[in-house]
Amino acid sequence: MTIASNLTAIHDRIAHAAQRAQRNAGEVALMGVTKTLGANYIIEAYEAGQRLFGENRVQEFSEKVAALASLRDARFHMIGHLQSNKAPKAAELFSAIDSLDSAKLAERLNAAGEKLGKALEVLIEINVGGEEAKSGVAPNSPQLESIFAGIPTWKHLRIRGLMTVPPFTEDPEGGRSYFRQLRELRDRLAARNLPGLALDILSMGMSHDFEVAIEEGSTCVRIGTAIFGDRAKP
Ligand SMILES: *Cc1c(COP(=O)(O)O)cnc(C)c1O
Repeated sequence: MTIASNLTAIHDRIAHAAQRAQRNAGEVALMGVTKTLGANYIIEAYEAGQRLFGENRVQEFSEKVAALASLRDARFHMIGHLQSNKAPKAAELFSAIDSLDSAKLAERLNAAGEKLGKALEVLIEINVGGEEAKSGVAPNSPQLESIFAGIPTWKHLRIRGLMTVPPFTEDPEGGRSYFRQLRELRDRLAARNLPGLALDILSMGMSHDFEVAIEEGSTCVRIGTAIFGDRAKP
């Protein structure tokens, strides 16, 4: 299997899942997740038509970015946990931060965006499973409310929606209730009409469960292994 043929197969599976849910496959973006992989993997996927990529670590991506300079219209999102002290570097390297999990981080990203004269797209990461080892804000928490309260002041952030990584289960169906919770949270927030908060993006679903996530309303699936093969274990 090649990266190109894997991408084709995944686009087919996205189309079928969307069809089952009576959704338009065009509503579902495919993000290639390239953590731990060399820039050559990203270039190969780009040549096969892939444009949207997700990376997990600022330092790791900063080492690849020079090799990717010719991929003019590729977009790179930060999807891993981001420490506030790395916000300036992340704001410089990425077009979007999909893992916002505190008002403090938003402050830092906004300040960095202001310095760079750049508007950053942002998703709020929600820890739907309440797992202690996972990042993300708890739904219905004071931390989440403090993010909402800050949004109107962060002129260099465009909050676009929610992201989640649910608890892992072998059976892809195990993710369904968490994906549904994220969608229902989105719907409740949309009904509040919070100033500056757009909720058009729901980033959920990975290699083993993206079809279930699409059935539950995902608009962005983040896929590593099913495109690029197994990552070397650290
Ligand atoms: C690694 C990773 C993915 C992709 O995982 P696969 O199982 O390889 O598809 C998606 N989202 C996040 C946040 C990740 O860290």
